[in-house]
Amino acid sequence: MAVTSVNAQTPQVPTATTPSAPALGSATPAAVPAPVPAKPKLSPLAVAPDWSQLSHFSGVLSKEEFDQAITKIYSNLSNFPLPWKTEPTALLMNTSPGVAPVRIEFRHPGAPEKVVPKYWRTPAELAPLQPDEPVLKGVHIALDPGHIGGIYAKIEERWLSMNPGEQVMEGTLVLQIAALLKPRLEALGANVSMVRQKETPVTMAKPEDFRPLAKQILLEAGITNPVENYTDPRDEARILSVQWQAEKLFYRVSEIRARADKVNNDLKPDVVLCLHLNAEAWGDPQKPVLVNTNHFHLLINGCYSPDELQSEDVRMEMLQRLFGRVHEQELAMADTVSAAMMRTTGLPPFVYLNNNARRVSPDPGVFARNLLASRLYQCPVLYFEPYVMNDALTYKRLLLPYYVGRTLVDGQLLNSPLEDYTRGVVAGLVEYYKKARTQAN
Ligand SMILES: [Zn+2]
Repeated sequence: MAVTSVNAQTPQVPTATTPSAPALGSATPAAVPAPVPAKPKLSPLAVAPDWSQLSHFSGVLSKEEFDQAITKIYSNLSNFPLPWKTEPTALLMNTSPGVAPVRIEFRHPGAPEKVVPKYWRTPAELAPLQPDEPVLKGVHIALDPGHIGGIYAKIEERWLSMNPGEQVMEGTLVLQIAALLKPRLEALGANVSMVRQKETPVTMAKPEDFRPLAKQILLEAGITNPVENYTDPRDEARILSVQWQAEKLFYRVSEIRARADKVNNDLKPDVVLCLHLNAEAWGDPQKPVLVNTNHFHLLINGCYSPDELQSEDVRMEMLQRLFGRVHEQELAMADTVSAAMMRTTGLPPFVYLNNNARRVSPDPGVFARNLLASRLYQCPVLYFEPYVMNDALTYKRLLLPYYVGRTLVDGQLLNSPLEDYTRGVVAGLVEYYKKARTQAN
């Protein structure tokens, strides 16, 4: 879900001055320090990129293809300057501070086609489908149930409960949906991997491991003497505690980075399906605000802000996706899958009111957004955000254990939302691959 920004490369810290900050002019004048080379700007827990990899990108895209990808997908349409310049025949990419920009040649008209090395396959690169074979035969699909759920649901702030004894946990529900999807996709011929199989983290790290970094992040935000722990999850000041920041680095950053390692180095799928449920702001998790609004959207990767692109790792990851033409495959799949999801769930498309996401295709349910998972996974990613968990009717439906057939909820005969979600994903993939593989054959 996207109540707070799921992508947040930097955990949220308010800009603040604290009583312990020295007053201007009160400090003893210090000697002017010698200039030190600027450090690469990196997002939390990122390693500095290997800029020599840019050499793979020369001759891959024409200037028109690069410009179009930036304009249609990767830019957030802001007017702030970007860390590169284009010439008619080359892209001049800024890398580390103090280093001259790297020249990436555009593909000349008529030059032979060149591709960036990649592990995933387009439908045209799969073995041709024989007439009697199921439509997903040979497609490697990785299912990534978002969040962790279970005992982690409260710290990852994906837990809500209207009444004692009941609870809706996003990480637990999407794991159930993955378990429904796996055999159905396999029956259609797919090879299905699970990025997470249990309500346990993929990362080996623990929240406590991130206390020193959490303190550093708070210090950089001007919080020089933060409280160690918070006691009330409803207290908005909890985000100024070391504990809250460390937990966030654990479940939002370390966990996603561990999943990306698994996807890119171990699983190497043709597509990842990130399974989530959405919500509107609910306030107190033990007395959540219930709303009467429900919607769906499907995210692909894109919509980078100039500020985000200042981080070297983010810039390199965007370039890998752009020159690897990952966006072309995501776009090709997104409209069909989005339409199938809306048809099956009956949900209307979401409308973003801020500029961290943008429409990128004719289908009103498809948006581009720079999320950590969709950026780090080096293959096509479809990121599902159906259902508002704190919509009054949806909340009641999600409390019911998964069931087959329809049951009466608030006077209406309704399927389990887990079933409608599953059917939507399957229908969208079947429709897309049927069309794409028929054309490829
Ligand atoms: Zn989510």
